[in-house]
Amino acid sequence: MDVESRKKALRYFFEKVIDPLGYKFTPDEEMADFLLEQEVMLEKKHGIPFCPCQPIKHERTYDMTVVCPCIPFHRKHFDFMKRCWCGLYVHKDVTDPDSLPQIPLSEAGLE
Ligand code: SF4
Repeated sequence: MDVESRKKALRYFFEKVIDPLGYKFTPDEEMADFLLEQEVMLEKKHGIPFCPCQPIKHERTYDMTVVCPCIPFHRKHFDFMKRCWCGLYVHKDVTDPDSLPQIPLSEAGLE
């Protein structure tokens, strides 16, 4: 499958996972397209669409927490920011994703 087709397929499947969690794709289409393309490349390399923004440690238990969409594993943190770490997904009510900075977990006061 070519990159564009795979991006479309991932978008279709991911939508079904994130919608019930209260998230949507970022309205920043350029960003969404870029991140999905990175995931397709990671999937080609590792067989799994890993997160483009988080390290892979080659430790199965940890690595499963950075497979997209990783929202269930980081729910409190992402809900606090109203976005996932990469910004591919945002809360459904978000219209200006640029207004939502990444806030490290250690600074979110959730630990
Ligand atoms: S941070 Fe976002 S883009 Fe990265 S794996 Fe998690 S949900 Fe996907």
